Order: sequence, then C-alpha cells, then structure tokens
Amino acid sequence: MTWTNSKDSALRERAMAVIPNGMYGHQSVMLMPDDYPQFFERAEGAYLWDVDGNRYVDFMCGYGPNLFGYAHPEIDAAYVARLRQGDTMTGPGEAMVELAEAMTRQVSHADWAMFCKNGTDATTMALMIARNFTQKKTIVLARGAYHGAAPWCTPLKNGVTPADRANQVFYDYNDVESLEAAVREAGSDLAGIFASPIKHDTFIDQEAPTPEYARRARELCDEQGALLIIDDVRAGFRLARDCSWSLVGVKPDLSSWGKAIANGHPISALLGADIARFAAATIYATGSFWFSAAPMAASLATLKLIADSDYLERTIALGERLRTGLTEVSGRHGLGLRQTGPAQMPLIMIDEDPTGAKGYFWNNALLKRGVYFHPWHNMFMNTAMTDGDIDHALQAADDAFKLLKAAGPLEPVAKLEFMHAMVG
Ligand SMILES: *Cc1c(COP(=O)(O)O)cnc(C)c1O
Repeated sequence: MTWTNSKDSALRERAMAVIPNGMYGHQSVMLMPDDYPQFFERAEGAYLWDVDGNRYVDFMCGYGPNLFGYAHPEIDAAYVARLRQGDTMTGPGEAMVELAEAMTRQVSHADWAMFCKNGTDATTMALMIARNFTQKKTIVLARGAYHGAAPWCTPLKNGVTPADRANQVFYDYNDVESLEAAVREAGSDLAGIFASPIKHDTFIDQEAPTPEYARRARELCDEQGALLIIDDVRAGFRLARDCSWSLVGVKPDLSSWGKAIANGHPISALLGADIARFAAATIYATGSFWFSAAPMAASLATLKLIADSDYLERTIALGERLRTGLTEVSGRHGLGLRQTGPAQMPLIMIDEDPTGAKGYFWNNALLKRGVYFHPWHNMFMNTAMTDGDIDHALQAADDAFKLLKAAGPLEPVAKLEFMHAMVG
C-alpha cells in the first residue's frame, strides 16, 4: 500500500481554525520530522493506524501508557464492565479501596495511595505534601527533569511568573556534589528533594542513577527532615514491579505514578509512606473525575498482569533484540548510533548529528516504512510486540540508513533550532 496523508492534511487545516496552533503539547507533531501524521484512527496491540490508514509499529506507546498493547482484552473488559455499572458517580466505588490495597501491596515503600488523573496532579500533590509535612518551602530538583505542565514545573516560561518558580533550587542528576550544594543553598528551608527514577531527559543520553547519588539523596532528606520524592510517572512498572528506585535499594517517602498504571486509561496516583500520611490527609486535593471507577477497574486488571505475568522480562528481551539489531545494522553502514536508557525505554540518536538533520531524515524514512520512532524522546516497548515487529523495524532501519547515505549533506532542521531557542 502506498503511503498517503491527504486525510491528515485536511484535518490539520480544520484544526488550525479551531485549536490554537492546530495542536499543542507533547503530542503536537509540529516539531517532528515532516511526514509524521497528527491524527490517528485506530490502535490495537503493538500497532497504530493514522487517519489515512497507514499502519505503524508504535515505539512511542502513547508516550508511555501502552505497556500491555493497545486495546488489551482483559484490561478493557474490566473497564467496560465498570463503565456500564457506574463510573463517574457522586462518590467512589469499591475499586478505589481495592486499587489502594493493590498499589501498596505492589510498591514496597508505600503505605497509602491517593488517586488523580494526570502525572502533573500527582507531582503537584507531592510538592504540597512535602511543604505541608515540613512547614518549609524549598524544593530541590534536577535541572532539565520533566515533572509535568503546571506553572511550577512546565518547561516553557510563557505564562509563568517568577513567583510560580520561587523556592526551587536545582542540581545536576547523578552529581552528588551539586546535590549537596543545592541542599546547602536550601539551608533550613528544605521541604523535599525530587528525583526522576532515571535520567530520561529529551535530546540527551539517558542515565541510570548511581547508587551513591540515590543514597545521598535519601541521607540528605533524613538529615534535614525533608521528604524524598521519586517521580515514577513515566518509568513506573517499566523498570521494576516496585518503585524504580527499589533497583538501587533506596526507598522514597513519596512516589508519583501515571502513564502505564492502567494501560492507557486515565488515572494517576501518589503513593506515600506512613511518615507523610497526616501531611497528605491535610492538603486539599480533588478533581471532578478523580474518583471515576472505570479507570480504577482498568488499573486493577493492569496491576494483576504486573504481579502475575512475565511482562517485564518480555519488554526487556524485545528491547535488547532491537538494540542489538540496530547496533549491527548501523555498524554495517558505518554509522554510529547512541542507544541509551534501559532496553525497554530506549533513546536512539544518530552519532555526529549536531543539527539533528540525520536523525530527522532517518526517522522520517522509518515512518514511511511503517515504524513509528522518535528522534529525541525516549521510546517504549510493550508486551504485544513480537520478534517479527522488531525485525520489521530493523529491516526498515537498514533501508533508512541506505537512503541517508545516498542523500549526502543535509540542511539543519529549522524547526529544531526554533524549539531550542524557545526553551532557551
Ligand atoms: C508525563 C510525565 C509527567 C506528567 O504527567 P501528565 O500525565 O502528562 O500530567 C510527570 N513526570 C514525568 C516523569 C512524566 O514523564
């Protein structure tokens, strides 16, 4: 089937009239390689179909929510059954208690759970609980880490005032000295330290936390009576069947969850240890849709698979097959790839590509061959992918490398230059 995008183009034109800039936020494809479609028709298992009917093996997984495959039969059946019985009601259903029990059973540092809709809700509650717990203001955060799109943390400064960003001190991830310096700067006003489970920033190589850094963050919080917060919204249950920092043997006081916890149904969570229970009970936190029962039923079904299946080992094996294959294919073409992050959450960038032009060309060629990759954001594996899907991606990568070599020198990507200027 030949690749076309006429329906997508028509929808984009209509969107321009009634949606600011046609689309906003992280799923806007304005800054992606030229042929990336904006609108999709269908998703099932490992595949995504755009509105023009082009099929892709989707390595973005909805930017994280898809862990067990799109439209998972058991998870969606639990969702639909709950939806028919009562979803958004005047109060929560039994599923809320069951889900809090299941989450605290699964995550070893957690004694209690609160539920909300978005990762940003959970990280914002964590910030408030740390301040309420300590009766102090300053939060220490890693430079460049993403924690959501509220005024206190959104990456672009438009519409944000200095007051929104007050009482924040930054450190460099994995740099113990800079963490200590940030905590010194916070002085007697330290409320909490935020850490991403791994360094999963955009555009740069990913890093696992060093045990020294993770342990020092814990110690500094203990010394100061502050709370340690792990933002597991993106990596939660993708690295471990527990909080991601269980892998380095460090227990946080609070952890924020979202994305994959209901395999795509809208729910997020804040988990905490007993020490922060009273502080959590005494902030005002709510939302019209936070207590909806159907996403909780979906999350319960997802947690059952997390506890009882080999999903984690499967996504790691698929990621390793992709990584090994790409190393082999790129080597054959004499082109280097920087493949960083855990195999199941890979970031893949082309070496010696300062303007991003090679990456954009290569990703665009993959797209045209039915493989949805991302040029500068970490990607995700899901359990519906097969070895055949990975091999399809490797074949597409091989073809795309051939085209890249034949293309000769490329113009810098103007839209990337624009974005870097905007973020500053
Ligand atoms: C996506 C993300 C968030 C925000 O979650 P939303 O559901 O988009 O509000 C926070 N932290 C991390 C690490 C994320 O990846």
